Amino acid sequence: MTDIAKSERARVLVVDDQPANIQLLHQILKAEFEVSMATDGESALALCRRRAPDIVLLDVMMPGLDGFEVCARLRSEPTTRDVPVIFVTAKDGVEDETRGLEVGAVDFITKPVNPPVVLARVRTHLALKRQADLLRSMAFNDGLTGVANRRWFDERLQVEWLRCRRNQLPLSLILLDLDHFKAYNDCYGHQAGDDCLRTVASEMRGRLGRPADLLARYGGEEFVCLLPETTIEGARAKADELGKAVFDLGIANAGATTAPVVTISRGVASIQPSADGKAVDLLHIADNFLYMAKRSGRNRTEG
Ligand code: GH3
Ligand code: MG
Ligand code: MG
Repeated sequence: MTDIAKSERARVLVVDDQPANIQLLHQILKAEFEVSMATDGESALALCRRRAPDIVLLDVMMPGLDGFEVCARLRSEPTTRDVPVIFVTAKDGVEDETRGLEVGAVDFITKPVNPPVVLARVRTHLALKRQADLLRSMAFNDGLTGVANRRWFDERLQVEWLRCRRNQLPLSLILLDLDHFKAYNDCYGHQAGDDCLRTVASEMRGRLGRPADLLARYGGEEFVCLLPETTIEGARAKADELGKAVFDLGIANAGATTAPVVTISRGVASIQPSADGKAVDLLHIADNFLYMAKRSGRNRTEG
């Protein structure tokens, strides 16, 4: 099997303190899935944090962290929250089942396991997981450029506003609008316009380094960059860097009067969030500065 075919197989993590049980599940699953194994809760969590599997088959009774605890911790951490967990357990009492569902399991398989049942349930939950992932990605990403959409941006803005307020940190934002983009569409066509938006978005996203930084498509040919824990000086420098990077892409825009290539205007705002302010203030300030950048010649940073 080639590496590519291999990497397309769903990844199943089997956790059980009894090697014989792991061996059995491995036998059942290995033809169809990429199976990894852990014999205790701590190492299962460590594996999941390093690279989240597509699904976890989890024993309940284990020394140290038991299955309930492992499941609860997976649910509580952002990187592993969406990984479905199926309990594989000898316990089949109502209480255990209830507790398992309460900590977030999607299903139960009772020991001794029946191979066709294991396969069928794993397949079903993987299919559901793929659909849920797709829906999540459609809900939060912009379909054209793949960067965050406005809905996700609005949500992050509120969260970061509160976090920076609590920790007394600055919160900065850059609004960016492509210059003379109507002319670009008129000259090269709408399809080329779409390609241009994709290229510009991907260039800008590649230049945001910190984990909390976010680039979103804010509207047609307008983007927004959220920069938590960043001062106004830092945000201005980033805005200049993005402007230069887009200019340096050298995408010809024959109809533009600012430069012969695609450029962006930038409006920057930075605030120390406080109890009497609102996150939307930041957007208004940046929007005003973006307008100034347009008025004063485009392809520049104001704010
Ligand atoms: P300015 O420098 O003042 O920003 O001028 P502009 O031409 O960029 O601004 P204007 O608002 O007049 O026009 C925006 C253009 O962006 C018009 C619209 O067709 C185009 N546009 C918006 N969204 C998309 C898109 O998703 N794909 C394509 N191809 N074009 C888009
Ligand atoms: Mg524009
Ligand atoms: Mg515009």
